[in-house]
Amino acid sequence: MNDFKYIEQELWCEQTPVRAVAQKVGTPFYLYSHQTLKNHFHVFDQAFAEVPHIVCFAAKSNSNIAILRIFVAAGGGVDIVSGGELYRALQAGVEPRKVVYSGVGKRIDEIEYALNAGILMFNVESFQELAEIHACAQRLGKRAGIALRVNPDVDPQTHPYISTGLKENKFGVNIKKSIEAYRAAQKMPWLDIKGVSCHIGSQVTKISPFVDALDRLKKLIRLLRKEGIDIRYLDLGGGLGITYREEEPPHPVEYAKAIIGAAKGMDCTLVLEPGRVIVGNAGILVTKVLYTKTNEGKNFVIVDAGMNDLIRPSLYNSYHQIQPVIKKKGKTQQADIVGPICESGDYLAKERQLPEFERGELVAVMSAGAYGFTMSSNYNSRPRVSEVLVKGRRSYVIRRREGYADIVRGEKIPKFLKT
Ligand SMILES: *Cc1c(COP(=O)(O)O)cnc(C)c1O
Repeated sequence: MNDFKYIEQELWCEQTPVRAVAQKVGTPFYLYSHQTLKNHFHVFDQAFAEVPHIVCFAAKSNSNIAILRIFVAAGGGVDIVSGGELYRALQAGVEPRKVVYSGVGKRIDEIEYALNAGILMFNVESFQELAEIHACAQRLGKRAGIALRVNPDVDPQTHPYISTGLKENKFGVNIKKSIEAYRAAQKMPWLDIKGVSCHIGSQVTKISPFVDALDRLKKLIRLLRKEGIDIRYLDLGGGLGITYREEEPPHPVEYAKAIIGAAKGMDCTLVLEPGRVIVGNAGILVTKVLYTKTNEGKNFVIVDAGMNDLIRPSLYNSYHQIQPVIKKKGKTQQADIVGPICESGDYLAKERQLPEFERGELVAVMSAGAYGFTMSSNYNSRPRVSEVLVKGRRSYVIRRREGYADIVRGEKIPKFLKT
């Protein structure tokens, strides 16, 4: 469920016409529904209500501080993967004790920043990282909460680029080797072993891979407890998929039921790190038709948003529904929706049956709330687009459109090149 719908041929976000926002801020822009965001978080969080749990929203899917604030205000935590994301989470007012820090390449300055902030735990991905965190903790005189991110070697049956829980992926520590890592950690006095974590991949549309991973984690927790290593947090990562096209992912309530059932008797606080499932269908990218043309019998609709604004189609060949902001009667045609970037891979949709778009028409790229703006870049020196949050009849610019000065910010011509 989301709050983007047609009323008399026109696309609305909550009680606001998308066209009106386009008139106000220009195109392209990302548009999010406050109601949908809040609702998605609430449904997910409530689904786990009967057990101790923390929902740590995965900031990398959408890290705008206004969006993070919605979840933080609803009692959520944040899953971060960098110092920059920690900064954002703190700006959004997160309780540091609800922050978990994932990622294979944490730098020393980032580890120190997180220790000083007092986060709940680092999800540690290697032996060397374990030693580094210990050294930092000792230096700062602050004990570091840790969980090992283990690789449960389950196939999430998703796109290879977003599958992370197979043994050949770069993520985590092999589940068999992880016992050694825990033993090593136990000998490091500045580490506080808190839990076990995993994250098997993204856009997972079945429940069984999650339950399989959980079963493997349970076995590990039992072994660890036998050795006197206390495990209090079971972090199952994120990865629950959404409907972009015809996928039928489990509802969060179904997902939660399966996990709660499988985790019964473990006496752990569950940590969940959802990203896409919360924000994916709560946002769209609105763009405008610049030109249309036909090359060798193929129709192209050239719009003012490109792969630098939304890279998912180019990167993963992923599908986003394309919708006219104002529906009109008339013929449809097969066309590619492409951007202005100088790359053949710059497209938003391929071979779609679409209305015969004309210059100036507004087009909505649906399900763009996750891994949309956060993956955007300035490639081709294109200013990054604005982000707008709608609440009822009102819209709020939560990130202003960049200007040309932003494009060169921080750049400098050395003296010897002047004159
Ligand atoms: C990306 C990521 C998530 C979020 O994944 P979604 O598929 O967006 O739910 C959660 N945890 C970790 C460690 C991640 O890398």
